[in-house]
Amino acid sequence: MLEIKNLIYSVGNFTLGPLSLTLAKGEYLALFGPSGSGKSLFLELISGIRTPQAGTIFFDGADITSTPPQNRPVAMLFQDFALFPHMSVFDNITFPLKMRGYKADQKRRRADELGGYLSIEHLMQRSVEGLSGGEKQRVALARAIACDPAILLLDEPLSALDQELREDAIELLRLVKSSSRAIIHVTHNRDEIQELATRTQYFKS
Ligand code: ADP
Ligand code: MG
Repeated sequence: MLEIKNLIYSVGNFTLGPLSLTLAKGEYLALFGPSGSGKSLFLELISGIRTPQAGTIFFDGADITSTPPQNRPVAMLFQDFALFPHMSVFDNITFPLKMRGYKADQKRRRADELGGYLSIEHLMQRSVEGLSGGEKQRVALARAIACDPAILLLDEPLSALDQELREDAIELLRLVKSSSRAIIHVTHNRDEIQELATRTQYFKS
């Protein structure tokens, strides 16, 4: 599904790669590595927020290295959630749909599905400011899977949560793990994804 060949990316004094990786449908890859080793940069290259200086990213055989983020079958859940603070939960969740030109009724329908799926239907009209950590996590996850991405990138999604919320969040990740999707989950903590991961890789640069 995803094939990355000899990816190189430099920023400041830091150079990532050359890096190659293949990921098949249904895989849940746990990516470990020291702080500052380029894990977040790597996910941002796959999602298209950043463009590599060299190397190629293929999705189902097609070169998507220069494809804009909104046209990639990829979504990312950020470490700090990166929700839009002055927007409602509904507008946050449906933002990726808006970016892809979905109509109001399509957005409404998908938000209803996601609300039920992640138990956040009662939050839809709230502003994201004032949500609890666990609620923010659910909203961020809903936004990440809104377009049903084939590839889901998780950048330390559990590190901001306390132990109890972390267990809930692991349940959510079990829910979004699917045979039709591939997931890359960056983490510091081996225990937290032991049951989820189908494969682990140590990230060095
Ligand atoms: P990780 O997620 O593994 O902790 P990052 O991918 O966030 O690491 O960062 C990798 C390296 O790239 C770090 O050394 C970081 O300081 C550097 N870096 C990231 N963004 C920039 C930037 N805009 N300018 C300079 N250096 C950067
Ligand atoms: Mg990081």
